[in-house]
Amino acid sequence: MAFWEARTTKKNNSAPTATHRAQELAASSGGVLRAACEQADLRGVRNVNAYAGKEAASFGEPSVMNTDLTDKTLEELEQTVLAFQQKKYLARYIFSFIHAKGVRQISQLSPLSKAFRRQLTEQGYYICQLNSVTTLEDPDGTVKYLFQLADGNRIEAVLLNESGRRTACVSTQVGCAMNCSFCATARVRLRRNLTAGEIVDQVNTIEQDRCRISNVVYMGMGEPLLNYDAVLKSVRILNHPDGKQIGVRHITVSTCGIAPAIRQLATEDIRPRLAISLNAPTDALRTRLMPVNAKYPLAALLQAVHSYQIRTRQRVTFEYVMIDGINDKSQHARALVERLRPVHCNVNLIEHNPHPGCKFVSSSVQRIGQFAEILTSAGVETTVRLRMGRKINAACGQLGADWRDG
Ligand code: SF4
Repeated sequence: MAFWEARTTKKNNSAPTATHRAQELAASSGGVLRAACEQADLRGVRNVNAYAGKEAASFGEPSVMNTDLTDKTLEELEQTVLAFQQKKYLARYIFSFIHAKGVRQISQLSPLSKAFRRQLTEQGYYICQLNSVTTLEDPDGTVKYLFQLADGNRIEAVLLNESGRRTACVSTQVGCAMNCSFCATARVRLRRNLTAGEIVDQVNTIEQDRCRISNVVYMGMGEPLLNYDAVLKSVRILNHPDGKQIGVRHITVSTCGIAPAIRQLATEDIRPRLAISLNAPTDALRTRLMPVNAKYPLAALLQAVHSYQIRTRQRVTFEYVMIDGINDKSQHARALVERLRPVHCNVNLIEHNPHPGCKFVSSSVQRIGQFAEILTSAGVETTVRLRMGRKINAACGQLGADWRDG
C-alpha cells in the first residue's frame, strides 16, 4: 500500500544578478555544441540535438542562468573565490560543506567570514535546494520524489533500497524527446536540460531525507548523453574526494544509444559505468520501440560500445524490457545472443511496467525465465530484475506516468 507524504521545503528566492547571469552564460558555452565544434567525433552529438528537434539555445541550457554554488566544480569554486579576492583554499571548504556536510544555506558556510557570506548572497549566489513537492513510498522500500525546480519545472527521482545498496536514480532533463514507446517519460515534453547542480541536488535532497547514498544511476527522466556536459560534471562532483566520494564504479549512466556521445565518453578522464537501453535484437523492431535507432542503428551503437570497451575495459550492461508478444520470443533471444557475442556484457531482463496510455503488457515470469535460459546457456550473463517501486509508478519507464503534460 503506497502512501503520499506531502512536504514542502524552503524555496530559493535568490535572484542572480545580470552580471553573474552573463558570466554563467559565458561559462555555459562549454556545452555540448562547443564540444561538438572542438571535436569532430562529437559532431554526431550536435546532430542529435537536431534530431531531438530542438535548438540548443532553446532547450540545451536552463532558462535562468544560475549562480548556484552546487553547480560548480572545486576548480570553478576556486575561480569564484579568487574573483572576490578571497583565499583560494576557502573554495575547498565551500565544496565540502555543500557536498559532504549537506549545507544548504550560504549563511551556514561557517569557515567563510560574515562579510564574504554577505557578499556572496548580495551578488546572487546560492546553494541549490530543490523543492520536494511530494514523496511517495512503496512497501518494498522504494521512494519516489517529485521535485520542483526554481523555474517551476518538475522532475522525479527515485531512491531504491536493494541488497544493502542505497541507489539514487536521478533525472537529467525535464521531459524527454526520445519517444521510446514503452516509457511514460516519453509523454512528458522535453523542456530543458538540468544543470549539474540540479542533478547533484537530487542526491543531496534524498540523503537529507533518508540515508547516505551508495550508488547513483542516471536512469530517471531524460536522455543523459543529450545533456553531456552537465552529466559529466555532476559525476565529477559526486565522485570528488572532498564531496560524497561516490566511486565511479558505483555510478552508472544509461543511454538509449547516442553512439557519438558513447565514443566521446570513452575518452574522458572519468568514466562511469555504461548501461544501454537495448530492448530489441533487430533494427526493425528496435526502431519501432525506440525511434533513436533510426539515427543510430544497432551496428553503429555496438561499434561505439566496442570502442568504449577497448578504452575502458569495462563490462557494459544492456537493459532489455520484456514486452509480451513483442520482443520476448525465443527467436529474439537467439538473435540477441548473436548480436552481443562480441561484447563483454551482462543483460538485465526487466519486466515491462504498465502506465496509463501504454498498450504493452509485461511478458510472463515463465517467458522471462525461458528467455533468460536461452541467454545464459549461450554464455551471456543475465539477470532478471525485480520489480521495484511499481505500486508508486517509480519503476523503470514509469517516471512521469502520473503527469498530464501541458
Ligand atoms: S526510456 Fe529514457 S530515453 Fe527513452 S523516452 Fe524514456 S527517458 Fe527518454
